Amino acid sequence: MRKKIIAGNWKMHKTVVEAKTLVGELKKAVGGVIDPVVLVCPPFTALTEVALVLKDSEIQIGGQNMHEADSGAFTGEISAEMLLTSGCSYVILGHSERRALFSETDKLVNTKGRKALDAGLIPIVCVGETLNQREDGVTEKVIEEQISGSLDSFSESDIMKTVIAYEPVWAIGTGKVATPEQAEEIHVFIRKLLAQKYGGETAEEITILYGGSVKSSNAVGLFEKKNIDGALIGGASLKADEFAAIVKAMM
Ligand code: PEP
Repeated sequence: MRKKIIAGNWKMHKTVVEAKTLVGELKKAVGGVIDPVVLVCPPFTALTEVALVLKDSEIQIGGQNMHEADSGAFTGEISAEMLLTSGCSYVILGHSERRALFSETDKLVNTKGRKALDAGLIPIVCVGETLNQREDGVTEKVIEEQISGSLDSFSESDIMKTVIAYEPVWAIGTGKVATPEQAEEIHVFIRKLLAQKYGGETAEEITILYGGSVKSSNAVGLFEKKNIDGALIGGASLKADEFAAIVKAMM
């Protein structure tokens, strides 16, 4: 059975005090839920305080990014070990905002992914096409390149520990959610790519999340699809009741 995950990407939102309030509310609402895995990815500054609040709950914590080196002169960066020792078990890699605004390439995402796995973090590797790419009919080509580049040289055991998030860029923060059929079509395509490389049985075990304007009002339709194993959620993860409602839609 594939692991189901509902993950919240808080991006650059919430001070430490605000973060503690939000996870306190979430803990009350869904703190005991183990299926799906409930995951929050706060800003780095709030990680340790969030971990303290969530200590006696099932809610997991992730980083939003990390550097590929162990340590060194990389001003403003954070390492896998720093995430781990701040309470993280997951890390988001290659989010479209990192790719577009911070020039992250598939090669870099790949290096970070291997470092995360070596350190014992579960990478959530994001892929997705832009609106222009979709309109030009190259969605599958773009996804194929991102999957093969970002997961290059991942062994079968690496891929079994990896989570993939399909996040069409045109749906992120725009309110334009992909229809369940559009999302399922690409999830099936990603699983087919994984099956080609790792075999059908392994591909069936890999969690593939959808991300892009997921809300409690559209979650059920998405989650009914066979290949959608949960969601990576931006805006709607900043309100405890809304995020908890999405978690419950997956239960
Ligand atoms: C995201 O940033 O990963 C995301 C899916 O954002 P939103 O839910 O706000 O579209």
